[in-house]
Amino acid sequence: MSATISSVQMEAPVVDFLKAPKKLLIDGTWVEAASGKTFGTYNPATGEALATVAEGDAEDIDRAVKAARRAFDSGPWSRMTPSNRGQLIWRLADLLEQHLDEFAQIETLDNGKPFSVARVADVPLAVDLFRYMAGWATKVTGETIPLSTGGHFGYTLREPVGVVGQIIPWNFPLLMAAWKLGPALATGCTVVLKPAEQTPLSALRLGELIMEAGFPGGVVNIVPGFGETAGAALAAHPNVDKIAFTGSTEVGKLIVQAASGNLKKVSLELGGKSPNIVFRDADIDAAIAGSARAIFFNHGQCCTAGSRLLIEQSIFDQVVEGVAAEAKKIKVGPGLSPDTDMGPLVSEEQLSRVCGYLESGFAEGARAAAGGKKVNGPGYFVQPTVLTDTNPNMKVCREEIFGPVLVAIPFRDPEEVLSTANNSIYGLAAGIWTRDVGKAHLLASRLRAGTVWINCYNVFDAALPFGGYKQSGWGREMGREVLDLYTQVKSVCVAIN
Ligand code: ADP
Repeated sequence: MSATISSVQMEAPVVDFLKAPKKLLIDGTWVEAASGKTFGTYNPATGEALATVAEGDAEDIDRAVKAARRAFDSGPWSRMTPSNRGQLIWRLADLLEQHLDEFAQIETLDNGKPFSVARVADVPLAVDLFRYMAGWATKVTGETIPLSTGGHFGYTLREPVGVVGQIIPWNFPLLMAAWKLGPALATGCTVVLKPAEQTPLSALRLGELIMEAGFPGGVVNIVPGFGETAGAALAAHPNVDKIAFTGSTEVGKLIVQAASGNLKKVSLELGGKSPNIVFRDADIDAAIAGSARAIFFNHGQCCTAGSRLLIEQSIFDQVVEGVAAEAKKIKVGPGLSPDTDMGPLVSEEQLSRVCGYLESGFAEGARAAAGGKKVNGPGYFVQPTVLTDTNPNMKVCREEIFGPVLVAIPFRDPEEVLSTANNSIYGLAAGIWTRDVGKAHLLASRLRAGTVWINCYNVFDAALPFGGYKQSGWGREMGREVLDLYTQVKSVCVAIN
């Protein structure tokens, strides 16, 4: 059996999955919300309803936390060897890989991104992340410590932090679930995951694979629902030991406040307004193509989006024209159409937010070298946009737009560009395009950003730590560093005489 949506043949399992009831995963069982409430998810390419999902709130979060607590304190998970935990995570990666096309279609339907992109980026990166973290399960170690206090021997144990609440956004629904679940499971924590209300579907399908892989009940609980209800209840819950959040800086601050009741540990991956710097000694063609990808990848709905393009004065017009030409070439359409480069924004709310920024930019004197408008018709499409004639005080230059909108700003020398680049409340990422190796490394060391890409952009690897300076976040995900977010150190001191 198959069905056709937007002229692409749907995988039979996707059709079946969309039709089936979508419940909450609590204690290894799929259950209705305690309130009996449900909410709809929509295809952003058409605005049409896709599926109905059980709507978790505080009561369901409480049930899920109790299940996670039992699983952590006394369930089979608490006695499982690191090697067996690693094998389960690896099995989950294998299952996900076997369902590559199905997950890519679900992601496209729910989020809007092109199927061709979800297939080569979102899903394989999630598979890699699980495999990388499966390897760490057996390598989380303490240390022996030479003590100066005579007659004593000291060592540390690195132990899982406990029950973890994880709240994720809608821009990479599956990949963000993987970034969160992978290290939590590798270190032996148990989890209550709350997907974004706009895009709960891939996490729910992943929940089915988690059970199929053989994780004991209660280790991973998945409770879709709204931020102000389910999310807030999870962040405030007194029996949650740690909260990991990815989303806006504004909500990140609410998470910190909510977490203060029991002083749970907090890690945050928040917004950005990342500078992408092009010097005149760069490979200009590569810089133009790379700078266009830096902003337009995932429709600009990336926390790392290279949304401020800082261009050395003498090549300003050439680079702006080049990036504008790239923007005009981008084929905007439904994510399931094979020739689509850029899909719709995720929701009507996001569309009006991005259009609001465009209006504000034009009102303050900016000019569009490409795009600048909503695309007429159904769905939440906006044109890939390049703005010039901006100044650093404009809202479009300071605030995170989270859409395909680039501001281009000229600079004269490295000192000036460093000060412009660092002049932001954010510090998530930065890009540098130059052939001068010394200049590139010097700038990399002086940019206040958690990731610096040199002659590339938006390159992610499970082994490379990722996170923000300043108001872009707390802590580092991926790489060895993420293990610190999900473990705590116990010192043991033994009298030996
Ligand atoms: P965006 O503005 O891009 O939608 P948000 O930061 O609002 O991003 O959302 C990211 C995640 O945070 C989503 O899962 C959302 O449900 C959740 N969320 C939103 N508000 C709150 C809140 N007050 N407390 C906890 N989680 C929240």
